[in-house]
Amino acid sequence: AAKRLTGKTIVVTGASSGIGRSTALEFARTAPQNGLRLILTARRIDTLKEVAADIAKEVGDGVKVLPFKLDVSSSAEIKAFVGNLPEEWRNIDVLVNNAGLVKGVARAPEIDEDDINVMFQTNVTGLVNMTQVVLPIFLARPDGGHGDIINVGSIAGREPYAGGSIYCATKAAVRSFSESLRKELIATRVRVIEIDPGQVETEFSVIRFYGDKSKADAVYAGVEPLTPDDIAEVIVFNATRRENVVVADTLIYPNHQA
Ligand code: NDP
Repeated sequence: AAKRLTGKTIVVTGASSGIGRSTALEFARTAPQNGLRLILTARRIDTLKEVAADIAKEVGDGVKVLPFKLDVSSSAEIKAFVGNLPEEWRNIDVLVNNAGLVKGVARAPEIDEDDINVMFQTNVTGLVNMTQVVLPIFLARPDGGHGDIINVGSIAGREPYAGGSIYCATKAAVRSFSESLRKELIATRVRVIEIDPGQVETEFSVIRFYGDKSKADAVYAGVEPLTPDDIAEVIVFNATRRENVVVADTLIYPNHQA
């Protein structure tokens, strides 16, 4: 299956930590000698450079890595993204739309408007904008279009919880978008894949509680959360299926999550 990644160019958003970082490493591990190009994007460019160094340390220089500073909440940055890539990095085959965040735990009357905006701008508008700049590359291919769009949603998009209404709404939007897009592209060979994780231990909950680590740790009390590698393995599994196979929709729980 690793051969199916030969020569591919893969973009991972939110590759500076958690699931995105693990996904970058997992692609590199799966196809270390197959001429992969990995474009790693996030706001923290220094952290992306560290991820690139981690990849080189683990698999050597068979995988080319381009750390690229990109804030997905900026439409202007996204519009300039492909044009700002060096020419040989523009032939993108796989887009992993992973960047996302949750801010705050608040009942509806107290939700902070800035938190609402940042969650929608990042999780929804950013993901849609990224898709819009990459899809034309896929659709310009002579076979009528092929490439993979892998969207990281959440269990929260399927099972909304009290205190998380806006985050849940953003992830429900991601889910709907994935499904609509899959149907719009049915005549092409573009695959649209939705991956919905349950609890995964990353920086995610630290950000949710504005940096309060003890509150973040309490989220995982009583459940052994998934690791980011668990999700990364599923993302890479999807990208390495035969072109005619679409595992369109996956929910991944830790074994004991209710
Ligand atoms: P992390 O906080 O560890 O990683 C989030 C990543 O998103 C970081 O690399 C961060 O990079 C990036 N990011 C955030 N905002 C922006 C932005 N405006 N522009 C570009 N990149 C951005 O969390 P996870 O790895 O857990 O989260 C990854 C995805 O998984 C998210 O979409 C999340 O909703 C989803 N998810 C997570 C679950 C969990 O339990 N952890 C469960 C279900 C889904 P930087 O700060 O450098 O920009």
